Amino acid sequence: MSALVPFESHPKAKVIARHVKAILEELGLDPNSEAFKRTPIRVASVLLRMTEGYNREVTLTRTYTERSDLVASFGIPFVSICEHHLAVFYGTVDIGYIPRNQVTGMSKLDQLVEKYALRPQIQERFTSQIADELWKTLQPNGVIVVTEAIHTCKLLEGFQPSTYTCSACRGVFLWNTAPRDEFLKLRLAHRR
Ligand SMILES: [Zn+2]
Repeated sequence: MSALVPFESHPKAKVIARHVKAILEELGLDPNSEAFKRTPIRVASVLLRMTEGYNREVTLTRTYTERSDLVASFGIPFVSICEHHLAVFYGTVDIGYIPRNQVTGMSKLDQLVEKYALRPQIQERFTSQIADELWKTLQPNGVIVVTEAIHTCKLLEGFQPSTYTCSACRGVFLWNTAPRDEFLKLRLAHRR
């Protein structure tokens, strides 16, 4: 089932749809026509889904480990909206950390990405928020997060699309080049 459908029955869906309907009318479009009949409720669902991250609680389960070597997950997909235009930006997140006695589940990293993606964002803050939450909660020796995204608002503004990259480093990744090089080498291998 589409991830959007449940939002059609969200308590705020009808009110938001009413405003969208007014916008369509203001634009000279006919919201009662076959083409636009379901557009207001669909747009309301998109907006509700794309702000859902504020209500997400992600508990990073922690498992004891003796290892202190790199743990990484590459190519976690995400979709978000920019806070300036509410236009979609989308791409991937690569996460690496050096544990200090505890690791979290792989799927927790995906959930963390979604929590911060499903809200109006700027990519720089999105990248830092993921790094900061892992840094604070897992208390590892280091965290590195790299995000790559295409911003559709750039297209709307009349510019060529290009990939925008942000990174955030905490702990050993800031001052020790060895773990950073290892992470970047594996990241490159993952893309081949
Ligand atoms: Zn924008």
